[in-house]
Amino acid sequence: MDYFFTEEQTMIRDLTRQMAQEVVKPQRARLDEESLFPREIMQELAKVDLLKVFIPEEAGGLGGGSTEMCIVTEELSRVCAGVATTYSANALAAMPIILFGSEEQKKKYLGPIARGEKFAAFALTEADAGSDASRIKTTAIETDDGYVLNGTKQFITNGGEADIYTVIALTDPKRGPRGMSAIMVDKGTPGFTFGKEERKLGIRASKTTELSFADCKVPKENLLGKRGMGFIITIKTFDKTRPGVGAQAVGIAQGALDETLAYAKKRVQFGKSITSFQGIQFMLADMATQLEAARALVYATARMIDAGAKDFGMESAMSKLFASDMAMKVTTDAVQIMGGYGYMKDYPVEKFMRDAKITQIYEGTNQIQRQVIAHSLIK
Ligand SMILES: Cc1cc2nc3c(=O)[nH]c(=O)nc-3n(C[C@H](O)[C@H](O)[C@H](O)COP(=O)(O)OP(=O)(O)OC[C@H]3O[C@@H](n4cnc5c(N)ncnc54)[C@H](O)[C@@H]3O)c2cc1C
Repeated sequence: MDYFFTEEQTMIRDLTRQMAQEVVKPQRARLDEESLFPREIMQELAKVDLLKVFIPEEAGGLGGGSTEMCIVTEELSRVCAGVATTYSANALAAMPIILFGSEEQKKKYLGPIARGEKFAAFALTEADAGSDASRIKTTAIETDDGYVLNGTKQFITNGGEADIYTVIALTDPKRGPRGMSAIMVDKGTPGFTFGKEERKLGIRASKTTELSFADCKVPKENLLGKRGMGFIITIKTFDKTRPGVGAQAVGIAQGALDETLAYAKKRVQFGKSITSFQGIQFMLADMATQLEAARALVYATARMIDAGAKDFGMESAMSKLFASDMAMKVTTDAVQIMGGYGYMKDYPVEKFMRDAKITQIYEGTNQIQRQVIAHSLIK
């Protein structure tokens, strides 16, 4: 389907596609097998300005919106969702700064992120606060000259590798979600250390780590927005970034469909190509149709956001929900169509299937997306 991208969007798509094929694909299997952080690949993406895509022009970026962000994420995910996760986590951490940062904060943090000099991470989740983010325990208590952080975050993408951390912590512990704030913490700040590195099912070319804060002092100017705005900042951030998870799911599914189609055309059983069996044809037809429906929803939502819509939380949740459920189904069917070969690491479809699963879980599980959608419907 033609999404009538502008000339610039088409250029971004073609460039990302080329980088994914030439730079990411040759390293994909090794990054997955050895669970390596793709630092060199991120530097290569920076060299061709792809890390600038989602950063506003005044902060040194290309000033792209959700559509451009989704285009890059889809194209990277079509080859390696682990690399795409590393890329997207950078954008997830930058989004609160873009939305709520002061001019000084934008200059300080966004320029280096755009140039690929610094990577970023967003830290909300804790051991006892996943879906229920209001239960976080990490505190950032205000003192005369700043904030003192104490607590532990877990499952943080780019943890340990990033230089800049957007941390959601309690500045007023008694006020619950109204007492949450967003605080910037730089790597190397005394009292800020990294704990357990997770071993994962998929997106293994991304780092997922625990963060620990023990009397970690940051200056007052590291507060993002106003004190007590942390929960709102988190919701507004996810509203903007969830279509990106949808785009990731679309890319993963497209990568799996490409592989399985090429294989099916060549695979002969019972003296015929397996594509001559109606059972296989109908599976391929359903996969392609579901994939296009998801893509249409993702880009319609991205366009709605870029056009300046005020309220898009429901559509954002819908695109993440629909695309990720689609990706899980399409990648599972891709393995099925390839039979035993699909199950083996000689082909990348088993990786696409493993990678697809995370899109149903992070940035709010799909149960939580359904909750967001239902609340919008019945409010
Ligand atoms: C690889 C990876 C990377 C991640 N990266 C980041 C990151 O960069 N930054 C960050 O802050 N977090 C990150 N996360 C955390 C992620 O967002 C959480 O794992 C997710 O929100 C779910 O929380 P949980 O794992 O604690 O599951 P839980 O909240 O414990 O959920 C367990 C199950 O209960 C269901 N459930 C919970 N509440 C409800 C409800 N009200 N109704 C119906 N069902 C419900 C859930 O859908 C799920 O099926 C990452 C996670 C992973 C796995």
